[in-house]
Amino acid sequence: MNDDNSRELYDRALSVMPGGVNSAVRAAIEPYPFFVQNGDGGHVIDADGNRYIDWVMGLGPLMLGHDLPQPVQSRIQQKASEGPMYGTPTEIEVDLAEFVVRHVPSVEKIRFVNSGTEATVSAVRLARGATGRNKIVVNQGGYHGAQESTLVEGDAESVAPSSAGIPQSFAEHTIPVPFNDETAVREAFEEHGDDIAAVMTEPILGNYGIVHPEDGYHEFLREITEEHDSLLIFDEVITGFRVGGLGCAQSEFDVTPDLTTFGKLIGGGFPVGAVGGRADLIEQFAPSGPVFQAGTFSGHPVTMAAGLESLRFAAENDVYDHIDELGDRLRDGLSDIVDDQAPEYTVAGTAGMFKVIFTRDGQAPRNAADVKNAETDRWRRIFWGQMKEQGVFLSQNQFECQFVSYGHTDEDVDETLEAYKHAL
Ligand SMILES: *Cc1c(COP(=O)(O)O)cnc(C)c1O
Repeated sequence: MNDDNSRELYDRALSVMPGGVNSAVRAAIEPYPFFVQNGDGGHVIDADGNRYIDWVMGLGPLMLGHDLPQPVQSRIQQKASEGPMYGTPTEIEVDLAEFVVRHVPSVEKIRFVNSGTEATVSAVRLARGATGRNKIVVNQGGYHGAQESTLVEGDAESVAPSSAGIPQSFAEHTIPVPFNDETAVREAFEEHGDDIAAVMTEPILGNYGIVHPEDGYHEFLREITEEHDSLLIFDEVITGFRVGGLGCAQSEFDVTPDLTTFGKLIGGGFPVGAVGGRADLIEQFAPSGPVFQAGTFSGHPVTMAAGLESLRFAAENDVYDHIDELGDRLRDGLSDIVDDQAPEYTVAGTAGMFKVIFTRDGQAPRNAADVKNAETDRWRRIFWGQMKEQGVFLSQNQFECQFVSYGHTDEDVDETLEAYKHAL
């Protein structure tokens, strides 16, 4: 596979951007990432003309694949041509807000922002502002964006920032516990119950392999937060409008969080985030409440149009059925291959999410530690490149989830399974 153009572009990029990229994970590929020229259905074509089946899908935002259906495409272009944005409201923000409120059980009101990170930053501030408390309980291996309160490592006893540039005193307000560990959550509440503003969790860990909740875990979180007058925040930046269809993962698990953060899919491929939830809580945001929150680009008309028309298209067409069907075929096929060739590995995922985790014991991971113990180096250094050589683009390491889109076909699934057969 020739990659002269990508190499030259990366060389230029290294001179002007840290690590040659604008988001760290993109440089996880060795020796350098390929640069994309354009998308085509479920495929991308790189700067050297190589074609790949794309299971990365922008790392989450693209439910419809790279070719936007005509009504989505034309609405985006119409909004962009009317003038990019205004600094005063437009109708399309109300339309998208109404759509989300209509479909997501726990969302009575919503504030749009510009990224998943902004959504979780705002949700944490809101939880603290609304409860008058400081502490946030998060799951180890949960990802809530590049934000101060959740970039932590360690456990409830010993927590530290996981990035340079964050004061230790910030991290001390965050309590990391293992996913699926009710005892650890109970202990956190026993020790700090009066000062826990919220428990924030992804319904399914999607940035650390894929780890599914055990039966009853989310119900338990709902009960214990209620008991202590703390809030339950579901970070549905990945699962929102992907798992559980238009009702999101909370409808699939039948648990009603107080607040939900959104991102990725609700912008239809454009930069977006949102915090939704109980009206009395969302009303705490400025200007109706005391929790300051603002953004020049928030509710951007082009983004709102892309999000609304994508979700409407999904509501009115066989998008979820198509994705579920291909996802099931892919996961079933992968399970057969794994049984045959690597019984110590496991296949994870649901709806449009999938990943083969290179576990060492054939046990589906229960928490982040189980994923960390997997053969993560083999995944990234050996396996990823072998898939790429066969024209299959997977996410850049063992930890990031992969996505099925409406743009994928049965042939894409077949070819991908063949490639796994050779690479595993
Ligand atoms: C991607 C992601 C974020 C961060 O969103 P950005 O748009 O990258 O800032 C937050 N939470 C979860 C669960 C995510 O997957």
